Amino acid sequence: MLNCRDITKQASDYVDGHLSVRQRLAFAFHLLICGQCRAFLRQLRLAVGMYHRVPAKELSAEEAAAVVSKVLASKGE
Ligand SMILES: [Zn+2]
Repeated sequence: MLNCRDITKQASDYVDGHLSVRQRLAFAFHLLICGQCRAFLRQLRLAVGMYHRVPAKELSAEEAAAVVSKVLASKGE
């Protein structure tokens, strides 16, 4: 049976749908009996939802060039 530590380790995979059916069942069973993990998962889902609603900032050509030159400079070290 999963414990709370297992739940925090697997929570993002659960939210992203990357767990097997067996793992999801074990995860869901723990959520049934543990209010703390239900609250944790609720917060995680809120955070993930907010992250996906924030539009990605587009880089200007100057910013992109600056990133490329920094990467190239770091590879030269
Ligand atoms: Zn728990």
